[in-house]
Amino acid sequence: MDNGILTLFDIDGTLVRGARCHYMAFVRSVRKFYGMKKDISGINYAGKTDPQILREVLELGGIPKKTIEENLRECLEYMTQYYLANVHRENVQALGGVKELLFELKRDNVLLGLTTGNLEPIAYAKLGRVGLAEYFPFGGFGSDSPERPCLVKKALERAREDFNYQGDTILVIGDTPRDVDAAKPFHLHTLAVATGSYSVEELQKSGADYVLESLSDVNKILKIINSLV
Ligand SMILES: [Mg+2]
Repeated sequence: MDNGILTLFDIDGTLVRGARCHYMAFVRSVRKFYGMKKDISGINYAGKTDPQILREVLELGGIPKKTIEENLRECLEYMTQYYLANVHRENVQALGGVKELLFELKRDNVLLGLTTGNLEPIAYAKLGRVGLAEYFPFGGFGSDSPERPCLVKKALERAREDFNYQGDTILVIGDTPRDVDAAKPFHLHTLAVATGSYSVEELQKSGADYVLESLSDVNKILKIINSLV
């Protein structure tokens, strides 16, 4: 039984850093399905969903919209398979404080979920690499929708329908203004951390309720979460 608090975590830049294999999954899939060899390392991926990133990459490569849509589903499926086959080489690391924070939240019966642009199988494989997958029984994913607010909505539905969550103390934790914006339509509390590619100042401008350098001060974060009730 949960204690009335739900926290929804982003993955990249929030719980973990480093996802070379995820990046390579994009590179390999667009090469295979669209013959695209253009360098895609300059794209800002932060806070975007996998389907959204894929479309942007292909548009950058000059692939016609119709062609993009025709192969998109298969391309995403291939991307997932590539990732799962290569995840043992993923260079992902848990960010400071994350393991302790999740341990404490679980112990306090805080309900934990994900809100990530990662496709669901990629999200769990990535977290599995650092032993964090089992903390998150559900979430909203890039495979639910290319639009971040829609996957937040999906996570909320799953909390209520599958986990009988009946509270209204919900905190979204992420590392980009997109995470904060996606929580706004649902009037959720937001905590932004500058462990991704955005600074504290940039995150403050996004209108997050709380902005921290990182999740490493676990006591401070627990205090914030408990103060929401
Ligand atoms: Mg992120």
